[in-house]
This record gives sequence, structure tokens and C-alpha cells, in this order.
Amino acid sequence: MKLYTIGTCAGTEPFPGFRHTSLAVETEYGLYFIDAGESGAYNAHLMGLDLLKTKAIFITHPHMDHVGGLGNLLWYIRKVGLVRKQSLTKDDNIDILTPCIETAEGFLTVLTNTEGDFKIDYTQTVKKVREGLIFDNGDISVYATHTDHMPKKNDEYQSFSYRLVHGDKTIVFSGDIRRENIDDVLPDECDAFLIETGHHQIEDVCQTIKDTGKKVKKLIFVHHGGYIMRDVEGAQKRADDSFENAVIARDGMTFEF
Ligand SMILES: [Zn+2]
Ligand SMILES: [Zn+2]
Repeated sequence: MKLYTIGTCAGTEPFPGFRHTSLAVETEYGLYFIDAGESGAYNAHLMGLDLLKTKAIFITHPHMDHVGGLGNLLWYIRKVGLVRKQSLTKDDNIDILTPCIETAEGFLTVLTNTEGDFKIDYTQTVKKVREGLIFDNGDISVYATHTDHMPKKNDEYQSFSYRLVHGDKTIVFSGDIRRENIDDVLPDECDAFLIETGHHQIEDVCQTIKDTGKKVKKLIFVHHGGYIMRDVEGAQKRADDSFENAVIARDGMTFEF
């Protein structure tokens, strides 16, 4: 499976070359987005990803740096189909899984009032994320573990970390997370852990991961704070000094597992 760090910026002021959080996993069968920050669809298309392979979009929480590009992502999927004259059909469905139904439905409302009333032959299904197994289509399974990044609303968790399993490979994305939640979201062993650094210092999260005693084969820093984007090389050196196999991801990178 391939992992794409399409956008790697946290919700801060704009930095050249960095867009809000957008990740994707691609298998032979499908394409799966994890978060939909601004320009995610744009960057993904220019990276050569086939948006028409999209099977599901997993939103970690309803902050704009994670969901602000959802409307554009859905818009581009339809548009690419129209331009190529090979639109998705009535047998196709795109699941949108999110802890905040209202945000996703808000984007759908915007779209139904845009060009062509956004008429489509396929379906887009919004589903609420709760703790545990949230998706399994025989290709990938996705498990949600809540984080304490956002307070509960109506007694329901609003922010999640996602664990994706494809065959014998496991990838975990922290979502926005407090350090004390890292142990909660990590399985005993994973092939990659994508950790957000918008709220953390590199050394602190590396130490916290080591303290869990769990095996992270590859540590990928995403959702960068300004200090990382101002000096990526310096950040990479700090990561190298703190963890065995760590990389400061940038927009447009691909990882193979
Ligand atoms: Zn964020
Ligand atoms: Zn957030």
C-alpha cells in the first residue's frame, strides 16, 4: 500500500509549500483520504493520484485545517469524472466518516447549490464516527480511538485517531492529539505512526512514544507547526537525534509499505 502526505501543515498562518492536513492511502483496489485540508484534492491530482478511485474519506475532527477542503475534494471527484467522461456510476459510493455530521452535510449543502446542482450518479454517504471499528470493505479496515484534543459535545467524542489495516500492514494517524493520548492510540506494533507536531516539540513526542514501549517501525511527522516549516532541515536533524527511523514529511511525499 502507498501512503501520501498530500498536505502537512497545521492550522497556522500560511507557509509557502505547505497546505493543511491531507493524507491518503492507496491500495490496488481504492484510494482513501484521511482528512481533507485545503487544496488536498488539488495536490493529490497533481501528484498523479486518481481521484475516481476514492472509496472513503475519514475526517479526524471538524477543525478547518482537517476538513476545510472537503467540498473541493468532492467537487474535484465529480469534475475529473466529467472531464474524462468516465464518471463514477450508480454502483459507486464514497463514504464520508466524521465525528461531526453537521460539517460534512454543510459541505454537501454548499455543493448541491453549485454548478449543475451537483447532480451525480453515484452516492456520497455521511457516517458518524464512534470508538472502534468504523470501516471495513474487505480491502482496508479502519479503527477509531478518541483523543482529548476537543471537548465532548452532547456526550460524544469530537476528535479521533485512526488506525488503518491493509493485509499485514498497519498505519496509525494520531489526528490532533495530546501527548497523554499517544499510548491510547498506538497498537503494540505498527508499520508507521503519523504524529502531528502542531502542538508538540519533536523530542517530547519521540520520548513519549519510547516510553510506551510499543514498536513504531517508522515515525512520520505531519501537521507541522511553524517552527518546523521555517526550518525543515533543522527539524529533520532533531528527529534523527531523537528517534531511529523518523522523517519530517512535506507536501507531496510518497511512502510504500
Ligand atoms: Zn489541526
Ligand atoms: Zn484541531
